Amino acid sequence: MNQAADANLFSRLFDGLDDPKRLAIETQDGDRITYGDLIERAGQMANVLVERGVKPGDRVAVQVEKSVANIVLYLATVRAGAVYLPLNTAYTLNELDYFITDAEPSLVVCDPAKAEGLAAIAAKVKAKVETLDAGGKGSLTEAADMAKSDFTTVPRANDDLAAILYTSGTTGRSKGAMLTHDNLASNSLTLVDYWRFTEKDVLIHALPIYHTHGLFVATNVTLFARASMIFLPRLDPDLIIKLMARATVLMGVPTFYTRLLQNPALSRETTRHMRLFVSGSAPLLADTHREWSARTGHAVLERYGMTETNMNTSNPYDGERVPGAVGFPLPGVSARVTDPETGKELARDEIGMIEVKGPNVFKGYWRMPEKTKAEFRPDGFFITGDLGKIDHKGYVHILGRGKDLVISGGFNVYPKEIESEIDAMPGVVESAVIGVPHADFGEGVTAVLVRQPGASVDEASVLKALDGRLAKFKMPKRVFVVDELPRNTMGKVQKNILRDTYKDIYAKK
Ligand code: AMP
Repeated sequence: MNQAADANLFSRLFDGLDDPKRLAIETQDGDRITYGDLIERAGQMANVLVERGVKPGDRVAVQVEKSVANIVLYLATVRAGAVYLPLNTAYTLNELDYFITDAEPSLVVCDPAKAEGLAAIAAKVKAKVETLDAGGKGSLTEAADMAKSDFTTVPRANDDLAAILYTSGTTGRSKGAMLTHDNLASNSLTLVDYWRFTEKDVLIHALPIYHTHGLFVATNVTLFARASMIFLPRLDPDLIIKLMARATVLMGVPTFYTRLLQNPALSRETTRHMRLFVSGSAPLLADTHREWSARTGHAVLERYGMTETNMNTSNPYDGERVPGAVGFPLPGVSARVTDPETGKELARDEIGMIEVKGPNVFKGYWRMPEKTKAEFRPDGFFITGDLGKIDHKGYVHILGRGKDLVISGGFNVYPKEIESEIDAMPGVVESAVIGVPHADFGEGVTAVLVRQPGASVDEASVLKALDGRLAKFKMPKRVFVVDELPRNTMGKVQKNILRDTYKDIYAKK
């Protein structure tokens, strides 16, 4: 059924499909799923969802391993007009209790190993439970295999919810970001254009699909372009380098690029067939960017987005991809930098709060009208929580989360500035600068770094090298050398963990 007025993401993805035999996904087990298969399977699964009582607007909470059936479940949920709610596979039952009682889904889909534990939680909100394992098998696919594939896509308006993604919640409770059909469709279509995706593209998909990067950026962009993706359960550098011989695009978090650089097989020759390497979700070190260009001849394209906003900015396809910058606001997206206190817009190159507005920006936090109101300006700009600047050429630079800002002796210290100095020292792999409670200064600037194997970098050598390069108030009071920085699954350094580890170092004895 062709519904011209229907804004359902599923209709927008597939209504104009020319060739159902076109390949959409291939897996390492040799499965090849066409666009026609995806639509049929989504129809079968949507029929099962409806049989289980899922109504338009209902939430379907999903904590399962990455599989094609998982993608089908996402598409089926959207097709049925329900709201897809993916959950990080690392969440424990205790954490799931919060998400499920907060979101009140009508159906919970989980790994068979968790079904028993989840049943008690689901019962609290009267949700049904179905299972799906890492191989895509479970009660849900058993039922779907028997169901008919005809399904009339439930019409939705632009502003209706398609998904709720919980933010990672490093400060306080996770919040459910409500994303509409148009948020998702408009952003993916913009990216198809901006990154020049076509049906000839083959994406190496090694990201998790419970997060905006792997679920929306990677999957929706590929499907809108009628391209195909090679689905991998996780990052596997040897395999990825092998697959580059017939793929065209890789999307990854910075860890992908640092891990691939450690592989001796990475070269100009092995990346010759590739046309685009995209990085995001966490800052890509300028050093990694340069090393990648030197080894492969490709400049990584770094972009910036977040769960609440989809993608906001991107380095250009044709113009200069600047190491350490996240590029220009995407077409249709407005970005500005403001004084965090007054909200007044700042001039170019001045550091402040990044705010964005556009069709990409979410509708608000689930059942948190006050929180939502507090994070939007009256003129509709969303306060991202990221500190940064827009330079004279219009490139946006991220200097870190606002909550990671260090205030020492009343002065603002932007961690990125000190991290960049330390990262540039010979023998340093990477660093993180944090503020730790200090009796005299409020917070003491503290650096934690990882050194290259065999390098002799230590606290004294770092402090000596920084002396004279940084204003006194920015100088770290202590420098710690560690084996690795704590990271979450999306490659973000968990500064909250570091702050906790070092919280007592300046305590008066
Ligand atoms: P998430 O909601 O998990 O996607 O996290 C979003 C946050 O990740 C943003 O608010 C930024 O702090 C950070 N982030 C995403 N992309 C980049 C990037 N390219 N450079 C620096 N930080 C980034």
